[in-house]
Amino acid sequence: MNYKDYIAIVPDWPKKGIQFKDITPLMDNGKVFKSAIDEIVAFAREKNVDLVVGPEARGFIVGCPVAYALGVGFAPVRKEGKLPREVIRVEYGLEYGKDTLTMHKDAIKPGQRVLIIDDLLATGGTMGASIKLVEQLGGIVVGLAFLVELTYLNGREKLKGYDVLTLMQY
Ligand code: 5GP
Repeated sequence: MNYKDYIAIVPDWPKKGIQFKDITPLMDNGKVFKSAIDEIVAFAREKNVDLVVGPEARGFIVGCPVAYALGVGFAPVRKEGKLPREVIRVEYGLEYGKDTLTMHKDAIKPGQRVLIIDDLLATGGTMGASIKLVEQLGGIVVGLAFLVELTYLNGREKLKGYDVLTLMQY
């Protein structure tokens, strides 16, 4: 499957100079979306995953169908102020400034084998912070999966030592 045929490249969005990779055409096509999800599921099946974790918002779109297919749960990583109960927090650097990601304190049982899924790997900041949250809660990160990898931003450097699956690279 040539997934790149289903990624729309949007110049200068959300800011000038950024070539945004829009995954909505891929999601829009049932056959292509299913094929992409099935590839991540096959990767996960080799790892005895107990729980899928995904950062908002597109990590939910890719992560939830994988969790459903595996018959395991899904735990969300969200921006500060979005989760209603007690959370743990990790700050991470953005191009300008900082942001905070959170997870519910009871989202993971210590020792659970966790696959973290997002739509796209850019600098690796979002995934790096998600890994910290999972590990602080006692989860074992057994793999990381993305639809898209922007190799020129070297996100993989931040994810050294983890098993990373990406379905397409730019
Ligand atoms: P990073 O933290 O690796 O620098 O950025 C990745 C995060 O930003 C992901 O959660 C992803 O959803 C979002 N993101 C950054 N650039 C793009 C893009 O071009 N396309 C999409 N779909 N998401 C992006």
